[in-house]
Amino acid sequence: MKTTDPDPVSRAEAFRPFTSPGQGHWAHVSPADWADSGWQQRNRITNMAGLTGKIRLTSREEGGVLLSSTKLAMGITPYFFNLVDPDDPHCPIRQQVIPKTDEVHYVEGDMADPCGEDKSMPVPGLVHRYPDRVLFLVTDRCASYCRYCTRSRVVSGAGEQDLEIDFEAAFAYLEQHTEIRDVLLSGGDPLLFSDKKLQTILRRLRAIPHIEFIRIGSRVPIFLPQRITPQFCEMLREFHPLWMSVHVNHPKELTIEVRDALGRLADAGVPLGNQSVLLRGVNDDPEVMKVLVQKLLRCRVRPYYLYQADLIQGTSHLRVPVRRGLEIIENLRGHTTGYGVPQYVIDGPGGGGKIPVNPEYVVARLPDRLILRNYKGEMYEYPDESLAERPLPSYNTEVLAPSMG
Ligand code: SF4
Repeated sequence: MKTTDPDPVSRAEAFRPFTSPGQGHWAHVSPADWADSGWQQRNRITNMAGLTGKIRLTSREEGGVLLSSTKLAMGITPYFFNLVDPDDPHCPIRQQVIPKTDEVHYVEGDMADPCGEDKSMPVPGLVHRYPDRVLFLVTDRCASYCRYCTRSRVVSGAGEQDLEIDFEAAFAYLEQHTEIRDVLLSGGDPLLFSDKKLQTILRRLRAIPHIEFIRIGSRVPIFLPQRITPQFCEMLREFHPLWMSVHVNHPKELTIEVRDALGRLADAGVPLGNQSVLLRGVNDDPEVMKVLVQKLLRCRVRPYYLYQADLIQGTSHLRVPVRRGLEIIENLRGHTTGYGVPQYVIDGPGGGGKIPVNPEYVVARLPDRLILRNYKGEMYEYPDESLAERPLPSYNTEVLAPSMG
């Protein structure tokens, strides 16, 4: 009998409910160990032996696993590994964490440091590119390693380049540069630090009066939700305003465990945003992306950025044409909650920073009006002086300036 693939909508809808992967291959482990983030980290899958008997690898994957120890290490928490479909090489979770031989295939335009971070480091570990904010790379380790990682040149300890970090020099730089009001802690993953170590870093930052705002970028709530303990969330309360950017690419990653971990962070007053990377075979499907953003909202996470994949060496097999990204945004804008529509961005190759990319809704700019298209393709006119030569009124800065009295 001939079987047909389910249509894309029903395939995506299958991921809408929150489910738990359970203990799966580790059913023999005590529930206390399973719920312990230390146990999860100590028992990560890091080599071929760890995969044996748990997954049917393709030959490309087998080769990739063997090569990963010289490039970007493989590391997968047991919890996250249970989301991998062991029999389906097209599984969207599998694409993200199981290496392939494609990773040693470089194409023209590939770069080791596609965001030009190394050249924007005034002190080791601190990237200062935008006027009022910095990226502070505090570790090179992650709970699991994403095969498309923008910092694969320095994370995991397997590649040729080490991430150099000088904490004291970084704090001194931050103290001296009063224009910096926003610090993003990233890496690697800062949430792999102990509560105490992270608390020490956050206290140092909070002691600098001009730092108004702290963010943490982390994939730990997704790879290792066991790390988000009530005690950890309580500790974070001391440092508000403290925001967190998490990183979810596919709705299957939003399990019961992850939803509850994100809920604990939200209950502790941490505003949550999500950054997704557009990846071939993972989320390059408008219906999958719609389920993802709607599920994120149910977890109290605002979909924030959708990244066009950076030009990282050995990741061209995971990249998707920009027109597909635009199609995905078109399928969201107006078709679902506005809070659920992320900003699609391309990081200017070589260090240009994030550049927004949007579908075109202004069809024409006439001297006296704009012709606009809505999400259904219907046309509207808005009277405007778009092309008029009259200069725009200037702001009255005296009125806008806060009272000094
Ligand atoms: S968690 Fe972030 S830093 Fe770590 S491998 Fe994944 S993308 Fe890279």
